[in-house]
Amino acid sequence: METQNHKLHIAFFPFMAQGHVIPAIHLTKLFVSRGLKATIITTPADAPFIRKKIENSGTQINIFTIKVPAVEVGLPENCENFHSATSPEMQAKFFKATTLLGPQLELFLKQRKPNCLVADMFFPWATDVASKLGIPTLIFHGISYFALCATLCVHLYKPHNQVSSDSEPFVIPNLPDKIELNRKKIPDFVKDGVENEFKKMYEESMEALKSSYGVLVNSFYELEHSYADHYRNVLGLKAWHIGPLWLCNEVEDQKLSTDEHECMKWLDRKKPNSVVYVCFGSLANFGDAQLLEIAIGLEASGHHFIWVVNKQNIIEENWLPEGFEERIEGKGMIIRGWAPQVKILSHEAVGGFVTHCGWNSTLEAVCAGVPMVTWPLFAEQFYNEKLITQVLGIGVDVGAQEWIRVDGEIVKSENIEKAVRKAMVGEKAEEMRSRARGYAEMARRAIEEGGSSYTDLNSLIEELRSRAITTETS
Ligand code: UDP
Repeated sequence: METQNHKLHIAFFPFMAQGHVIPAIHLTKLFVSRGLKATIITTPADAPFIRKKIENSGTQINIFTIKVPAVEVGLPENCENFHSATSPEMQAKFFKATTLLGPQLELFLKQRKPNCLVADMFFPWATDVASKLGIPTLIFHGISYFALCATLCVHLYKPHNQVSSDSEPFVIPNLPDKIELNRKKIPDFVKDGVENEFKKMYEESMEALKSSYGVLVNSFYELEHSYADHYRNVLGLKAWHIGPLWLCNEVEDQKLSTDEHECMKWLDRKKPNSVVYVCFGSLANFGDAQLLEIAIGLEASGHHFIWVVNKQNIIEENWLPEGFEERIEGKGMIIRGWAPQVKILSHEAVGGFVTHCGWNSTLEAVCAGVPMVTWPLFAEQFYNEKLITQVLGIGVDVGAQEWIRVDGEIVKSENIEKAVRKAMVGEKAEEMRSRARGYAEMARRAIEEGGSSYTDLNSLIEELRSRAITTETS
């Protein structure tokens, strides 16, 4: 039988943004490490980045390029990834452009005939394209089981319609824990009366959960077992947990990185757990007023810090308090641009992490056993905050009250100072650190042979293999 002799072929189709592409590369490498053949579908703009990552690792992965129809939706021709869509209007158009990729995907599937398509959650239409050709689609959400359950229950039960104001709390129904939110903390596109590209995509991606073959979850069972069980047994959907993905590639990635950022030497001179690391992921972009509050709050906390400031903020350097850089000399480091986050978090000097609760950052902190100060901004980050602070007990919230907007709420320096102190020192901090370290150990065991993520991936591969054999022989 052909499939017994030939490798199973999986095609990966990530959304064109770094937060999606990086885990997709890890995911692809993981499948290849289990003997499968893999192709990544991407744009000419993102291909060199992906190629470099896989070439360095010596892994055999094919790349297939498609062209985003940017001009057709009114974007500049070179707008081929989300980072080059720099305004909400451009971003909406970019989403629109991706929905026009169906014919190119279909052509690829017809030519290469993969046994399975792993499509990004932002491409819900891809499930239909593949199923017409008899190819099963797994959806890669890149979010936690907790956020998957919460998103689905908000979608199904619409608890936000039961309250009379944006700040009135509601409980998300049908979850294992009592999780309270309000309308300010859930996305606009979830709400009734909003019609836009995001809303359309969100509605379709909820439907695709049911019509797809299942979802791949970048998480591990021990971290959120009640939500993993809930998703499968109560909400009745198929899922496989296969993470933490970056940890599966960690050893190899560490071997490959030769250039050491100056912050690592700086950290070597610090005492264990004495430095707080502050970073808000790859997309967040604070205004000057918020940056000023962060600077004041960090200085007032008295803790040493590494603070990553997104380069796009830096037009003029007038967002720092007078004399700040001189005063913090030796105590604080500002990294303008990209920081080696995983390495920083793993350094023994780092004792806390102020994070926007992006799922990759959250998992990286969990795997490093570092307590968090949660400061969600958008997407599913307000759900992740609840998981971190309420369910897992490994973080304190800074008090962010709503999705970030240009003219939105500013988190005050006093709140930042207080939350940093709570996460860094004292009885509560030690308890959180010890719990976080427990999860870090569980994460490592989960990806080892026989561990929960290792085993779940095995059962998925076996299922795909027997499906492929049945299809071939029928
Ligand atoms: N990241 C990094 N250095 C930076 C900023 C971000 O290495 O200076 C990495 C971080 O380790 C994580 C990813 O970028 O893997 C951010 O993903 P996440 O899901 O946390 O947030 P997003 O960027 O999607 O909002």
